[in-house]
Amino acid sequence: MIQVKAYAAYDAENPLKPFQFERKDLGADQIQIDILFSGVCHSDIHTARSEWGPAIYPLVPGHEIVGRVVNVGSNVKNFKVGDLAGVGCFVDSCRKCSSCLEGEEQYCEEGMTGTYNSYERGTTTPTYGGYSTTISVDEKYALHISEKLPLSGVAPLLCAGITTYSPLKHLNVGKGHKVAVLGLGGLGHMAVKFAVAFGAEVTMLSGSPSKEADAKKLGAHHFVLTSDKEAMASLVNSFDFILNTVSAKHSYSDYLGLLRKNGTMIIVGVPPEPSQIPAFSLIGKRRSIMGSLIGGIAQTQEMLDFCAEKGIVSEVEIIDMDYINEAYERMIRSDVKYRFVIDMASLKQ
Ligand code: NAP
Ligand code: ZN
Ligand code: ZN
Repeated sequence: MIQVKAYAAYDAENPLKPFQFERKDLGADQIQIDILFSGVCHSDIHTARSEWGPAIYPLVPGHEIVGRVVNVGSNVKNFKVGDLAGVGCFVDSCRKCSSCLEGEEQYCEEGMTGTYNSYERGTTTPTYGGYSTTISVDEKYALHISEKLPLSGVAPLLCAGITTYSPLKHLNVGKGHKVAVLGLGGLGHMAVKFAVAFGAEVTMLSGSPSKEADAKKLGAHHFVLTSDKEAMASLVNSFDFILNTVSAKHSYSDYLGLLRKNGTMIIVGVPPEPSQIPAFSLIGKRRSIMGSLIGGIAQTQEMLDFCAEKGIVSEVEIIDMDYINEAYERMIRSDVKYRFVIDMASLKQ
């Protein structure tokens, strides 16, 4: 067994605390990664607090993982000791359904195996995520990471990056499109970077006046405060796409009117509370709402390679492991610029 140090939520109400556990000995198809950086996603908070339904405790969150391979199983072909490697939101899937065969394992008909808050397939062994010193994963579910980019800024690409890249690619968003990004946090800031990189005209819709200058630095062409009624009214019928990254309760119908004819709101944010959608906000302009869940392994690798080529990384605030509970509180206050990333050396000391 591999001894692991971690931080875990022990229940929905209390702060995360140190936790020790064992991972199974390395399987023949697995690589073992010494975790160097772990990003902090708002999904970690929703899950740790059982906001989406009861979690499996103790819960070790973290699905934006980068580190170095320290051991490989006897069948491993594509990684060697010393390589950089990443792990995102899932570590396994059925491998035989149509979605898995199409490389969209996140939509596995049997359900993907989450990096945390899941059970290893066919067992009662919980999966534990990246707020830990080391992780083992089947090489098919691991990503290759370029040596070119700062590693701390790469970690958030494994969730915030792919979650925003995937729907923009799916919809062929690019030149000639007007895109609004709603909510400037971890996902939102990556959405701006990708939409700009793909050639779209990008408007940042944010509730935080303090983020205007940053939005422009990230590449957004326009910034509008969602509380500015006049400015919002001027945007009615103007966007082809709205990428909605908001993590907290809000009303979709407050924003649907900003879509032009045939426009689409892409839901990636997952507030615990549902939103009501009046039919009139859709039918008058044949608008639609779609959702999108992270991305498959192949597309995640494509996104990482694209980022390495274009020099795209996340804007990060590096924290020590014991700062995690304060980081959660700040994220809930929308006070993160724009992703907390844990330096896992702080857990190894
Ligand atoms: P985050 O960094 O905390 O950012 C969320 C942003 O939403 C905030 O920075 C804020 O932006 C805005 N916001 C917060 N509360 C709001 C409110 N009450 N009304 C309006 N806007 C509000 O979170 P994240 O890590 O980017 O995650 C965002 C959401 O996506 C979470 O629900 C997460 O679970 C979900 N998620 C989904 C997927 C997927 O596959 N679909 C993957 C990862 C995460 P401003 O300050 O600009 O207003
Ligand atoms: Zn995430
Ligand atoms: Zn499957």
